[in-house]
Amino acid sequence: MEDKKQHCLLGGSSAERWINCPPSARLTEDMEDVTSIFAEEGSNAHSLAEYKLNKALGNNIEYPKLTIFSKEMDEYTDSYVSFVLEQIESLKEEDSGNAPYVMVEHQVSYDKWVRDSYGTIDFLAANNKTLHIIDLKYGLGVKVDATENSQLKIYALGAIQELECLYDFEKIILTIYQPRIGNVSTWETTKTELLKWAEDVLKPAADLADKGGGIFRSGPWCKFCKAKAICKERSKVALEILNQEFRNPALLSDNEIEEILLKADDISSYLNDIKDFAVAKALDGKKWINFKLVEGRSTRKFTDEGSVINVLKENNINPYDTKLRSITDIEKELGKAKFKTLLDNFVNKPQGKPTLVLRSDKREELNLVNTDFDVFKEEK
Ligand code: SF4
Repeated sequence: MEDKKQHCLLGGSSAERWINCPPSARLTEDMEDVTSIFAEEGSNAHSLAEYKLNKALGNNIEYPKLTIFSKEMDEYTDSYVSFVLEQIESLKEEDSGNAPYVMVEHQVSYDKWVRDSYGTIDFLAANNKTLHIIDLKYGLGVKVDATENSQLKIYALGAIQELECLYDFEKIILTIYQPRIGNVSTWETTKTELLKWAEDVLKPAADLADKGGGIFRSGPWCKFCKAKAICKERSKVALEILNQEFRNPALLSDNEIEEILLKADDISSYLNDIKDFAVAKALDGKKWINFKLVEGRSTRKFTDEGSVINVLKENNINPYDTKLRSITDIEKELGKAKFKTLLDNFVNKPQGKPTLVLRSDKREELNLVNTDFDVFKEEK
């Protein structure tokens, strides 16, 4: 996790962006951070996990002041702590029963390669063979992969910078622990490989980014860039397919349809970003020439449910709807394990709506011969 209180210009959590698009660092440094309920939830989960892990390791720590807490958060942070303790045990076994050096929520600097830089590692353990870094991700939206993960590599470099005179490890294990979507992603590399990446890729990119140099490059990392809605490079790349001259002036060929499909997600995510940006500006008082804010659709709500119930009862009308609660809601209350034991036999997952994805997607291709998809055709 990135430092909870301060962010540096070339921080680990934004490294994928500034390594691939170095000028984005200076371009966005004065832009306001948009905080969200999800970020606040993540920050609370990290504080709770830090507390529980320190307790489990026998360290003295005060219970954190949480602004968000749920049973789910309690369970997920418990599972994170169990996972970390297992990793400590495995390093202990590797080193003939000697306990590894461990640190929780530990700030490191990687300024050997990136000027004025620092970041906070959720958990690290080291002995003379292995360095293991674990990053807790509490998000649900994007599945994070540990393989070649720039943030984790940077944190490992910070740990190397700090620990190299004490420990002589060569094996580096980097793990993303993302409990809410059951994602535990681990990638193994070596100190030699990491130091080579630091010299060949990280340092040159950081030097360029620090000076505001380099070229703008649009890619998946734009999703987390504060300039994503107004960046000209992103706009150019997202929309360039629409400016293309197609062969037949009237109709698209199959190849041309595939070319557009390949860019469809990027185009729609860019269009959503620019719409959100324009609405946020309008709410801030900006008057756009051709657009205005109006009230959107809304649904009616009772202002005083107690009074409504009384009125309905007086008129012999049942005020209650006895609908069963949703699966997600019940699972949240019972916890995943208890839900499985008690109710798994009564759960059926119907056929999902057919979705067109890239051939590289891991899901198996649908067999149209054995399945009836007419119901989905009729829906359209
Ligand atoms: S939106 Fe993308 S291309 Fe534009 S500055 Fe940000 S990272 Fe670079």
